[in-house]
Amino acid sequence: MTSPTNSAEPSFRDSVDIMFNRAVALMDLPPGLEEKIRVCNATYTVRFGVRLRGKIETFTGYRSVHSEHMEPVKGGIRFAMGVHQDEVEALAALMTYKCALVEVPYGGSKGGLRINPRDWDDHEMELITRRFAYELIKRDMINPAQNVPAPDMGTGEREMAWIADQYKRMNTTDINGNACVTGKPPNAGGIAGRVEATGRGVQYALREFFRHSDDVASAGLSGTLDGKRVIVQGLGNVGYHAAKFLSEEDGAKITAIIERDGALQDEAGLDVEAISQWIRSNGGVKGYKGATYHEDGAALLEAECDILIPAALEGVINRDNAPRVQAPLIIEAANGPITAGGDEVLRDKGCIIIPDMYANAGGVTVSYFEWVKNLSHIRFGRMQRRAEESRHQLIVDELERISADASIKWTLSDGFKDKYLRGAGELELVRSGLDDTMRTAYQAMREVWRSRDDVQDLRTAAYLVSIGKVADSYRAKGL
Ligand code: GLU
Repeated sequence: MTSPTNSAEPSFRDSVDIMFNRAVALMDLPPGLEEKIRVCNATYTVRFGVRLRGKIETFTGYRSVHSEHMEPVKGGIRFAMGVHQDEVEALAALMTYKCALVEVPYGGSKGGLRINPRDWDDHEMELITRRFAYELIKRDMINPAQNVPAPDMGTGEREMAWIADQYKRMNTTDINGNACVTGKPPNAGGIAGRVEATGRGVQYALREFFRHSDDVASAGLSGTLDGKRVIVQGLGNVGYHAAKFLSEEDGAKITAIIERDGALQDEAGLDVEAISQWIRSNGGVKGYKGATYHEDGAALLEAECDILIPAALEGVINRDNAPRVQAPLIIEAANGPITAGGDEVLRDKGCIIIPDMYANAGGVTVSYFEWVKNLSHIRFGRMQRRAEESRHQLIVDELERISADASIKWTLSDGFKDKYLRGAGELELVRSGLDDTMRTAYQAMREVWRSRDDVQDLRTAAYLVSIGKVADSYRAKGL
């Protein structure tokens, strides 16, 4: 992948604080509250050993809790070699602001384990994950009421199932044990639509942006998503789903895909599904025949396009390359892909940035639905679906009776009956809840952006909305 944050720039944690400070300067918070919100409450570092391949391997992991204004606190667990305290704390802070912005009732947290998952086989990964989970569970750093992890880079359904099982082994009488972690497989307490959720949220965010022609015009664009040229950096879970949905359902053209080992480009639009298959079997984009290959993938971040979607690591757009980035609209599907320095350069150029804390909130939103499902012990839609279908059947029967009358020249349109009769199942309800969340949060953010002369960008607006909500809950607690 492209180079991480340049050393002349502040760390990821400082970068988040710089953006926070810029917003908070425009607010009138009671003395001291600003500092209370900014600081990270606690970071646990755990070092543990696992006997592997005849010797004891020591691993280092973290769980950081940024804000407990609401509990449980929430945020993913990342497995990567680059994991360190500064990164985990920055990501935990972003979780606080993200949850507040999209109104999911959690404080912010994040975890990480310094490991390259490719170095270990499945069984070894299970031993390591269970041991890490054990260390966190015994300190109540994983708990349905206090701290609920989820997938992040390098983790997925498999790891979440191990974590849930480990928690249940250690808490055999906790009836809510499944709610200790989200992102589990559907057959192990998960929810339909969680895997696609972050990418789906990016799609819904863009759809909402394009519903506001003033906002579209601010980016120097016009019309709808149809035909827009999109560059995606990182075809992991988030980038893949965003690219797939935007190209298959909204008519957008994915003109470049940037991966670790280079980039593929085709102005006519890339076949996302075929490229994703290719990456899965070959480990990278190199050698794929249906597009132009560029060895220097990062250079494509600077290529001409309508929308740029960084969906991988933090810090990929920074003071170095930001002056050359041509995209008029950037949606941050990753956490922190633009440094504070890069952000300043882009803002000065008039680039519109849909910020991470909003753009990638689809994951935690659907995690919230999963947690609620686990606590209620019933699948969404189970009680209503058939009742809804029966009521719809009444209307369809009535319409068919009327249209059977030869004197009335009227028939039902093709497909109406099937579509109308189908009651909403879990997946439809999850998508509906996610869509509503993404629309409502965008509107809250844009209201501030459009109504205040001192707010020039969506990121500052997002911080203002979310810090306001965090401050309100501290006040309600009497702090
Ligand atoms: N890791 C994801 C994020 O950064 C999801 C967190 C969650 O579902 O709790 O938002």
